[in-house]
Amino acid sequence: MDTQDESLGDVDLNEFQKQGHELIDWIADYLGNAERYPVLSRAEPGDIKNQLPASPPEQGESLAEVFHDVESTIVPGLTHWNHPNFLAYFAITGSAPGILGELLSAAFNVNGMLWATSPAATELEETVVDWLRQILGLPEGWFGLIQDTASVATLCALAAARESLDDLDVRERGLSQAPPLTLYTSAQAHSSIDKAGITLGIGHENVRRVPSDDRFRMQPDVLARMIETDRANGKRPFAVVATVGTTSTTSVDPVPEIADVCARHGLWLHVDAAYAGAAAVLPEKRQILDGCDRADSFVANPHKWLFTPIDCSVLYTARPDVLKAAFRLVPEYLRTDQQDDVTNLMDYGVALGRRFRALKLWYVLRAFGVDGIRARIREHIRLAEAWATWVDADPQFERLAPVPFSTVCFRACPNDRSGAELDELNERLLARVNATGEAYLSHTRLDGRYVLRAAIGHLRTTEAHLERIWSVLQDELHDLLVT
Ligand code: PLP
Repeated sequence: MDTQDESLGDVDLNEFQKQGHELIDWIADYLGNAERYPVLSRAEPGDIKNQLPASPPEQGESLAEVFHDVESTIVPGLTHWNHPNFLAYFAITGSAPGILGELLSAAFNVNGMLWATSPAATELEETVVDWLRQILGLPEGWFGLIQDTASVATLCALAAARESLDDLDVRERGLSQAPPLTLYTSAQAHSSIDKAGITLGIGHENVRRVPSDDRFRMQPDVLARMIETDRANGKRPFAVVATVGTTSTTSVDPVPEIADVCARHGLWLHVDAAYAGAAAVLPEKRQILDGCDRADSFVANPHKWLFTPIDCSVLYTARPDVLKAAFRLVPEYLRTDQQDDVTNLMDYGVALGRRFRALKLWYVLRAFGVDGIRARIREHIRLAEAWATWVDADPQFERLAPVPFSTVCFRACPNDRSGAELDELNERLLARVNATGEAYLSHTRLDGRYVLRAAIGHLRTTEAHLERIWSVLQDELHDLLVT
């Protein structure tokens, strides 16, 4: 028997072990001392690419050499999402237990497309999504699975909604014979709903944006009227996407009333709780999911506010048979003996290959425990409330939306400015604060006004960090006003 030529195998495991230890040490130091880096990368377009060789090396390099370049070339091009002063978009945490779970998933490198291709991958996923269902107070019996992102989860949910239109049989016949399908979501909903409509052939103009009220919530009576008008005009309304925690202001749509409208018109109800769903772990916030037990599908993202490294999004559905009918396709080479007795997760989405994402969620849920998760989410809400109090108490600033979770919408409003001037001032203020490297905030527009957002979601963000960022904001505003 031939002995294998060592130069043809994997990297020497002694080198792997040595580098692995050093890497874990480096990561621990990085997590504990991320503040030594500017939060927002100072790289200009092309800076990183220009330092990278245009072609791969002919000869292999040591892992130490690769890591050297991580530090010298890659790190300066990072915006540090794991920095406690990251308050942009929705702040997230790649937590220590989540990182270990992610590392292990690469080590096992299993493809959980079928139960048989790694029973533990499927069964752990079934278990952790059910744990999450329990702690969010979602209905017993709901089927769940992990997707990469809420965008893909919503795409799959809306594909199921389209599949539920039995008479059209879109799966077989396509859409060319079908009446124009319409779906409804609020003016404040995430762009992933539009993308799903575009991808599914619904047409962007048939993704109807229902106006929101003065607290940025969908107006169910307007929704009902829009559906009726579309019906009268020969359209085929088929789904409504309600949001629990909208992207700009974290407003919560009135899901019970929306569910009534869906029931009356026979429409699929999907709930996008990508960010705020996590808050339902708190008994005092449980009511945010009122009415969601009547949804056909629901998405929440552990990679947003549940401390799990990106990517990890959980899609639940009360109608797994319909989701499966939309996607199941089993060629000969994927047939297995037990296929009718087990869950094959490839049957419930677009992708065949499936990463073992359940591991990192399992690590996170076990390492923090439900109580620990509750305490951390409660603290983020407390910190956001503190920020809101500072805004409210400062005559140079104003708050532009309620703060039901951990995100505050506000802006500077010195009394000698208004309209477009105020927008420009806030835009410049944001750029100046972010350029300090001390903090990273992002913006949105509400009722046409340019608005700053402070989103708290990192496990190492403390009140002291926020106080520092608040004083940076005030200093920068002061400098802007005197120059
Ligand atoms: N839905 C809401 C309410 C969001 O805020 C976001 C992203 O911020 C998404 C969906 C999209 O999430 P993902 O990046 O997982 O696709």
